[in-house]
Amino acid sequence: MIPALRIENLSKVYDNGFEALKGVSLSVEQGDFYALLGPNGAGKSTTIGIICSLVSKTTGKVQVFDADIDENFPAAKKYIGIVPQEFNFNVFEKAFDIVVNQGGYYGMQAPLARERAEKYLRALGLWDKRDVPARTLSGGMKRRLMIARALVHEPKLLILDEPTAGVDIEMRRSMWDFLKKINAEGTTIILTTHYLEEAEALCRHIGIINNGEIVENTSIKALLRQLQREVFIFDSVEEL
Ligand code: ADP
Ligand code: MG
Repeated sequence: MIPALRIENLSKVYDNGFEALKGVSLSVEQGDFYALLGPNGAGKSTTIGIICSLVSKTTGKVQVFDADIDENFPAAKKYIGIVPQEFNFNVFEKAFDIVVNQGGYYGMQAPLARERAEKYLRALGLWDKRDVPARTLSGGMKRRLMIARALVHEPKLLILDEPTAGVDIEMRRSMWDFLKKINAEGTTIILTTHYLEEAEALCRHIGIINNGEIVENTSIKALLRQLQREVFIFDSVEEL
């Protein structure tokens, strides 16, 4: 089976000469729940931006299912739903319209986009807020609105950039439950986070990125075993 996402030797030098990615390679299997974990400034959003063609790459290759982003971006775009780290809403944009309009971006006819918007706003507990201007919603609600927007065309790959940063713990848990459910239903999910706890609660595989380089690429289970061993070694040294 081809991977949902394959990145090969991706590099990015920004216009000011800063080298944000230094040869990133990773592969995410279909059906996986994958975390890209790393501190602020590691290169997570740059990587996500390149996958969605919001940021240009310097070198490298990105393949989403059977579509190379350089050779067939329209096909790659359809496979992906993206929840960006930061977003702005226009003054009067209503929650429902934001989701429906996104459907149009994917070439959906209005009736289908409206049907899907209702489905996902209900699933995310936002149906009561459908006529409210999005910018007046709480941080957690805005984030859930962006998840509904990302799902309106029912993508095979959902990518979330720090989805629970600044979201309170209760809301974080209900968002986790929602993501687990759609992953169990078959959607491949990639999220970036700087919380190991979040990766542990949700993901099967993990890539650790630091200074634009993947420093670890493993399963969550193997990573936790390794950390336990390191703590154990550390404890034994302390006892000496
Ligand atoms: P992360 O999402 O992991 O916090 P980013 O991908 O946003 O990291 O940023 C990686 C590095 O690239 C950071 O040092 C950041 O300051 C730098 N960077 C991001 N965008 C730009 C830009 N437009 N121009 C120059 N440097 C940038
Ligand atoms: Mg970021």
